[in-house]
Amino acid sequence: MVQAMERIHDSQRLRQALGALRGGHSAGDGAGDGRIGRIAFVPTMGALHAGHLCLVDLALRHSNHVVASLFVNPAQFAPGEDFALYPRTVDEDCAKLAAAGVRLVFLPTADHLYGPDFSTSVNIGRLGQLYCGKKRPDHFAGVCLVMTKLLNLVQPDYVVLGEKDFQQFFIVQKMVRELNIPVTILQARTIRNLQGLALSSRNQYLSKEQMIIAPRLYQRLHELAHTLGEGKSFAGASRRIKQQLLDDGFTMVEYLSLIDQRSFHPLAHASQSARLLCAAYLGTVRLIDTIAVADACRTKTRRMGR
Ligand code: AMP
Repeated sequence: MVQAMERIHDSQRLRQALGALRGGHSAGDGAGDGRIGRIAFVPTMGALHAGHLCLVDLALRHSNHVVASLFVNPAQFAPGEDFALYPRTVDEDCAKLAAAGVRLVFLPTADHLYGPDFSTSVNIGRLGQLYCGKKRPDHFAGVCLVMTKLLNLVQPDYVVLGEKDFQQFFIVQKMVRELNIPVTILQARTIRNLQGLALSSRNQYLSKEQMIIAPRLYQRLHELAHTLGEGKSFAGASRRIKQQLLDDGFTMVEYLSLIDQRSFHPLAHASQSARLLCAAYLGTVRLIDTIAVADACRTKTRRMGR
Protein backbone atom coordinates (compact mmCIF):
# COMPACT_ATOMS: atom_id res chain seq x y z
CA MET A 1 0.00 0.00 0.00
CA VAL A 2 1.37 3.45 -0.93
CA GLN A 3 1.38 5.67 2.18
CA ALA A 4 0.40 9.30 1.84
CA MET A 5 3.44 11.53 1.38
CA GLU A 6 3.36 15.18 2.32
CA ARG A 7 5.15 17.81 0.21
CA ILE A 8 6.64 20.50 2.44
CA HIS A 9 8.04 23.82 1.29
CA ASP A 10 8.96 25.64 4.51
CA SER A 11 10.98 24.78 7.58
CA GLN A 12 8.27 25.59 10.10
CA ARG A 13 5.84 23.07 8.61
CA LEU A 14 8.75 20.61 8.30
CA ARG A 15 9.38 20.86 12.05
CA GLN A 16 5.69 20.20 12.83
CA ALA A 17 5.46 17.25 10.46
CA LEU A 18 8.67 15.73 11.83
CA GLY A 19 7.35 16.16 15.36
CA ALA A 20 4.20 14.27 14.39
CA LEU A 21 6.25 11.48 12.78
CA ARG A 22 8.51 11.13 15.81
CA GLY A 23 5.68 11.43 18.30
CA GLY A 24 3.43 8.69 17.03
CA HIS A 25 3.60 5.64 14.90
CA SER A 26 0.74 3.51 13.73
CA ALA A 27 0.49 -0.28 13.59
CA GLY A 28 2.50 -1.56 10.64
CA ASP A 29 5.05 1.25 10.99
CA GLY A 30 7.75 -1.23 11.81
CA ALA A 31 6.38 -2.03 15.28
CA GLY A 32 8.39 -4.73 17.00
CA ASP A 33 11.68 -3.98 15.31
CA GLY A 34 14.62 -1.65 15.91
CA ARG A 35 13.47 0.87 13.32
CA ILE A 36 10.68 2.34 15.48
CA GLY A 37 10.63 6.09 15.74
CA ARG A 38 13.76 6.37 13.63
CA ILE A 39 14.01 8.82 10.79
CA ALA A 40 16.28 8.37 7.78
CA PHE A 41 16.95 11.23 5.41
CA VAL A 42 17.74 11.03 1.68
CA PRO A 43 18.95 14.37 0.28
CA THR A 44 18.80 14.72 -3.52
CA MET A 45 18.75 17.32 -6.25
CA GLY A 46 15.83 15.56 -7.95
CA ALA A 47 15.52 14.20 -11.52
CA LEU A 48 15.34 10.89 -9.70
CA HIS A 49 16.51 7.57 -11.12
CA ALA A 50 16.84 4.03 -9.79
CA GLY A 51 20.06 4.97 -7.92
CA HIS A 52 18.20 7.51 -5.78
CA LEU A 53 15.43 4.98 -5.09
CA CYS A 54 18.00 2.47 -3.82
CA LEU A 55 18.99 5.12 -1.27
CA VAL A 56 15.35 5.16 -0.13
CA ASP A 57 15.34 1.34 0.12
CA LEU A 58 18.46 1.42 2.29
CA ALA A 59 16.86 4.15 4.42
CA LEU A 60 13.78 1.98 4.94
CA ARG A 61 15.93 -0.90 6.14
CA HIS A 62 17.16 1.29 9.02
CA SER A 63 14.16 3.42 9.87
CA ASN A 64 10.41 3.39 9.71
CA HIS A 65 10.08 6.96 8.43
CA VAL A 66 11.98 8.23 5.41
CA VAL A 67 12.25 11.93 4.65
CA ALA A 68 13.66 13.03 1.29
CA SER A 69 14.58 16.42 -0.09
CA LEU A 70 14.51 17.74 -3.64
CA PHE A 71 16.64 20.83 -3.86
CA VAL A 72 18.93 22.01 -6.65
CA ASN A 73 21.40 23.80 -4.43
CA PRO A 74 22.69 27.00 -6.08
CA ALA A 75 25.57 27.21 -3.58
CA GLN A 76 27.31 24.18 -5.11
CA PHE A 77 27.20 25.41 -8.73
CA ALA A 78 29.77 27.86 -10.11
CA PRO A 79 28.75 30.60 -12.54
CA GLY A 80 28.58 29.06 -16.01
CA GLU A 81 27.72 25.56 -14.69
CA ASP A 82 24.37 23.89 -15.40
CA PHE A 83 22.33 25.24 -12.43
CA ALA A 84 19.62 26.81 -14.63
CA LEU A 85 19.51 23.81 -16.97
CA TYR A 86 19.65 21.11 -14.28
CA PRO A 87 16.64 18.82 -14.95
CA ARG A 88 13.69 19.60 -12.67
CA THR A 89 10.96 16.94 -12.65
CA VAL A 90 9.24 17.56 -9.33
CA ASP A 91 5.89 15.84 -9.96
CA GLU A 92 7.47 12.67 -11.34
CA ASP A 93 10.01 12.70 -8.50
CA CYS A 94 7.28 12.98 -5.86
CA ALA A 95 5.32 10.11 -7.43
CA LYS A 96 8.47 7.93 -7.32
CA LEU A 97 9.27 8.86 -3.72
CA ALA A 98 5.70 8.19 -2.55
CA ALA A 99 5.69 4.80 -4.29
CA ALA A 100 9.06 3.97 -2.68
CA GLY A 101 7.65 4.63 0.82
CA VAL A 102 8.84 8.17 1.61
CA ARG A 103 6.63 9.98 4.17
CA LEU A 104 7.76 13.59 3.79
CA VAL A 105 9.48 15.39 0.97
CA PHE A 106 11.07 18.75 1.62
CA LEU A 107 11.21 21.08 -1.41
CA PRO A 108 12.42 24.45 -0.18
CA THR A 109 13.08 27.36 -2.50
CA ALA A 110 16.57 28.83 -2.60
CA ASP A 111 15.15 32.06 -1.14
CA HIS A 112 13.73 30.12 1.79
CA LEU A 113 17.02 28.37 2.60
CA TYR A 114 19.30 31.30 1.84
CA GLY A 115 17.73 34.61 2.84
CA PRO A 116 18.89 37.89 1.26
CA ASP A 117 21.55 38.57 3.94
CA PHE A 118 22.85 35.03 4.06
CA SER A 119 26.61 35.06 4.71
CA THR A 120 27.58 31.91 6.63
CA SER A 121 29.98 29.43 5.07
CA VAL A 122 31.24 26.01 6.06
CA ASN A 123 34.95 25.75 5.40
CA ILE A 124 36.04 22.15 4.91
CA GLY A 125 39.67 22.90 4.14
CA ARG A 126 42.10 21.46 1.63
CA LEU A 127 40.20 18.31 0.67
CA GLY A 128 37.51 20.52 -0.85
CA GLN A 129 40.09 21.87 -3.33
CA LEU A 130 41.31 18.47 -4.58
CA TYR A 131 39.98 16.09 -7.26
CA CYS A 132 36.39 17.24 -8.00
CA GLY A 133 37.17 20.46 -6.10
CA LYS A 134 40.19 21.43 -8.17
CA LYS A 135 38.21 22.82 -11.09
CA ARG A 136 35.18 23.60 -8.89
CA PRO A 137 36.78 25.29 -5.84
CA ASP A 138 33.49 26.35 -4.20
CA HIS A 139 31.58 23.17 -4.91
CA PHE A 140 32.18 21.24 -1.68
CA ALA A 141 31.71 24.30 0.50
CA GLY A 142 28.26 24.59 -1.13
CA VAL A 143 27.58 20.89 -0.51
CA CYS A 144 28.65 21.17 3.15
CA LEU A 145 26.57 24.29 3.67
CA VAL A 146 23.36 22.76 2.34
CA MET A 147 24.02 19.46 4.08
CA THR A 148 24.54 21.23 7.41
CA LYS A 149 21.32 23.17 6.97
CA LEU A 150 19.30 20.12 5.91
CA LEU A 151 20.69 17.96 8.74
CA ASN A 152 19.86 20.72 11.24
CA LEU A 153 16.35 21.04 9.86
CA VAL A 154 15.51 17.34 9.61
CA GLN A 155 17.62 16.08 12.55
CA PRO A 156 17.49 12.52 11.22
CA ASP A 157 18.93 9.43 12.89
CA TYR A 158 20.43 8.39 9.54
CA VAL A 159 21.39 10.15 6.33
CA VAL A 160 21.91 8.07 3.21
CA LEU A 161 24.57 9.08 0.67
CA GLY A 162 25.80 7.38 -2.48
CA GLU A 163 29.25 5.83 -2.91
CA LYS A 164 29.19 7.19 -6.48
CA ASP A 165 29.98 10.68 -5.17
CA PHE A 166 32.75 9.28 -3.01
CA GLN A 167 34.54 12.57 -2.32
CA GLN A 168 31.24 14.12 -1.27
CA PHE A 169 30.55 11.10 0.95
CA PHE A 170 33.99 11.35 2.57
CA ILE A 171 33.78 15.12 3.08
CA VAL A 172 30.30 15.00 4.60
CA GLN A 173 31.38 12.15 6.87
CA LYS A 174 34.40 14.20 8.00
CA MET A 175 32.29 17.31 8.53
CA VAL A 176 29.67 15.40 10.54
CA ARG A 177 32.40 13.94 12.75
CA GLU A 178 34.29 17.21 13.21
CA LEU A 179 31.17 19.31 13.88
CA ASN A 180 29.62 16.62 16.13
CA ILE A 181 26.43 16.47 14.10
CA PRO A 182 24.43 13.66 15.71
CA VAL A 183 23.64 11.52 12.66
CA THR A 184 24.79 8.16 11.34
CA ILE A 185 25.80 8.10 7.68
CA LEU A 186 24.83 5.12 5.53
CA GLN A 187 26.64 4.50 2.26
CA ALA A 188 24.60 3.18 -0.69
CA ARG A 189 26.32 1.30 -3.50
CA THR A 190 26.35 2.68 -7.03
CA ILE A 191 23.53 1.62 -9.32
CA ARG A 192 24.53 1.21 -12.97
CA ASN A 193 22.84 0.47 -16.26
CA LEU A 194 23.37 -2.88 -17.96
CA GLN A 195 26.50 -1.61 -19.70
CA GLY A 196 27.99 -0.42 -16.40
CA LEU A 197 27.37 3.31 -16.69
CA ALA A 198 26.64 4.79 -13.24
CA LEU A 199 23.13 6.26 -13.27
CA SER A 200 23.16 10.04 -12.99
CA SER A 201 20.62 12.81 -13.48
CA ARG A 202 23.11 14.35 -15.91
CA ASN A 203 23.15 11.25 -18.18
CA GLN A 204 20.11 12.71 -19.91
CA TYR A 205 22.43 15.33 -21.40
CA LEU A 206 24.21 12.54 -23.33
CA SER A 207 23.41 11.89 -27.00
CA LYS A 208 22.68 8.37 -28.26
CA GLU A 209 26.26 8.06 -29.51
CA GLN A 210 27.70 9.34 -26.22
CA MET A 211 25.53 6.85 -24.28
CA ILE A 212 27.39 4.08 -26.12
CA ILE A 213 30.79 5.50 -25.22
CA ALA A 214 29.98 6.51 -21.62
CA PRO A 215 30.08 2.99 -20.05
CA ARG A 216 33.73 2.76 -21.14
CA LEU A 217 34.60 4.89 -18.13
CA TYR A 218 33.57 2.11 -15.75
CA GLN A 219 35.09 -0.59 -17.97
CA ARG A 220 38.44 1.21 -18.11
CA LEU A 221 38.42 1.72 -14.33
CA HIS A 222 37.91 -2.04 -13.99
CA GLU A 223 40.80 -2.75 -16.33
CA LEU A 224 43.00 -0.35 -14.40
CA ALA A 225 42.02 -1.94 -11.08
CA HIS A 226 43.02 -5.37 -12.40
CA THR A 227 46.36 -4.04 -13.63
CA LEU A 228 46.99 -2.45 -10.24
CA GLY A 229 45.93 -5.70 -8.58
CA GLU A 230 48.82 -7.39 -10.43
CA GLY A 231 51.22 -5.03 -8.65
CA LYS A 232 51.80 -2.49 -11.44
CA SER A 233 52.42 1.13 -10.50
CA PHE A 234 49.60 3.64 -10.81
CA ALA A 235 51.71 6.17 -12.73
CA GLY A 236 52.33 3.97 -15.77
CA ALA A 237 49.03 2.10 -15.77
CA SER A 238 46.91 5.26 -15.44
CA ARG A 239 48.74 6.99 -18.31
CA ARG A 240 47.72 4.13 -20.60
CA ILE A 241 44.10 4.13 -19.40
CA LYS A 242 43.78 7.91 -19.85
CA GLN A 243 44.95 7.55 -23.46
CA GLN A 244 42.51 4.67 -23.98
CA LEU A 245 39.63 6.81 -22.69
CA LEU A 246 40.54 9.50 -25.22
CA ASP A 247 40.73 6.82 -27.94
CA ASP A 248 37.30 5.58 -26.82
CA GLY A 249 35.88 9.03 -27.59
CA PHE A 250 36.14 10.92 -24.29
CA THR A 251 36.96 14.57 -24.86
CA MET A 252 39.08 15.12 -21.76
CA VAL A 253 40.08 13.30 -18.58
CA GLU A 254 39.84 15.89 -15.79
CA TYR A 255 41.53 13.59 -13.28
CA LEU A 256 42.19 9.93 -12.67
CA SER A 257 43.49 9.20 -9.18
CA LEU A 258 44.28 6.36 -6.82
CA ILE A 259 43.63 7.11 -3.18
CA ASP A 260 43.42 5.35 0.14
CA GLN A 261 39.69 5.47 0.85
CA ARG A 262 40.23 5.75 4.61
CA SER A 263 42.40 8.87 4.43
CA PHE A 264 41.99 10.19 0.88
CA HIS A 265 45.79 10.23 0.55
CA PRO A 266 47.14 9.46 -2.95
CA LEU A 267 48.71 6.04 -3.51
CA ALA A 268 51.44 4.93 -5.92
CA HIS A 269 50.36 1.27 -5.78
CA ALA A 270 47.12 -0.51 -4.91
CA SER A 271 46.43 -1.60 -1.32
CA GLN A 272 43.43 -3.27 0.33
CA SER A 273 41.81 0.14 0.85
CA ALA A 274 42.70 1.61 -2.54
CA ARG A 275 40.03 3.36 -4.61
CA LEU A 276 40.07 4.80 -8.10
CA LEU A 277 38.37 8.14 -8.76
CA CYS A 278 37.81 9.64 -12.18
CA ALA A 279 36.10 12.61 -13.82
CA ALA A 280 36.01 12.79 -17.61
CA TYR A 281 34.17 14.79 -20.22
CA LEU A 282 32.15 13.47 -23.13
CA GLY A 283 31.63 16.63 -25.13
CA THR A 284 30.41 19.11 -22.52
CA VAL A 285 29.00 16.44 -20.19
CA ARG A 286 31.10 15.72 -17.13
CA LEU A 287 30.92 12.14 -15.84
CA ILE A 288 32.38 10.87 -12.58
CA ASP A 289 32.90 7.32 -11.40
CA THR A 290 34.75 5.44 -8.69
CA ILE A 291 35.52 1.85 -7.78
CA ALA A 292 37.25 0.19 -4.84
CA VAL A 293 40.22 -1.70 -6.32
CA ALA A 294 39.77 -4.75 -4.07
CA ASP A 295 36.07 -5.06 -5.05
CA ALA A 296 36.92 -4.80 -8.74
CA CYS A 297 39.65 -7.42 -8.43
CA ARG A 298 37.15 -9.83 -6.87
CA THR A 299 34.98 -9.67 -10.00
CA LYS A 300 36.06 -10.63 -13.51
CA THR A 301 36.72 -7.73 -15.88
CA ARG A 302 33.43 -7.16 -17.56
CA ARG A 303 33.72 -6.89 -21.29
CA MET A 304 30.49 -5.05 -21.72
CA GLY A 305 29.47 -3.22 -24.86
CA ARG A 306 32.24 -4.66 -27.02
P1 AMP B 1 22.14 14.00 -6.54
O1 AMP B 1 20.66 14.10 -6.76
O2 AMP B 1 22.92 13.79 -7.80
O3 AMP B 1 22.67 15.12 -5.68
O4 AMP B 1 22.38 12.67 -5.71
C1 AMP B 1 21.72 12.45 -4.50
C2 AMP B 1 22.30 11.23 -3.85
O5 AMP B 1 22.13 10.11 -4.71
C3 AMP B 1 23.80 11.33 -3.57
O6 AMP B 1 24.06 10.79 -2.29
C4 AMP B 1 24.40 10.51 -4.67
O7 AMP B 1 25.66 9.95 -4.32
C5 AMP B 1 23.36 9.42 -4.85
N1 AMP B 1 23.43 8.82 -6.18
C6 AMP B 1 23.52 9.48 -7.36
N2 AMP B 1 23.63 8.59 -8.38
C7 AMP B 1 23.62 7.35 -7.82
C8 AMP B 1 23.72 6.02 -8.34
N3 AMP B 1 23.85 5.78 -9.64
N4 AMP B 1 23.65 4.99 -7.48
C9 AMP B 1 23.52 5.22 -6.14
N5 AMP B 1 23.43 6.46 -5.59
C10 AMP B 1 23.48 7.50 -6.41
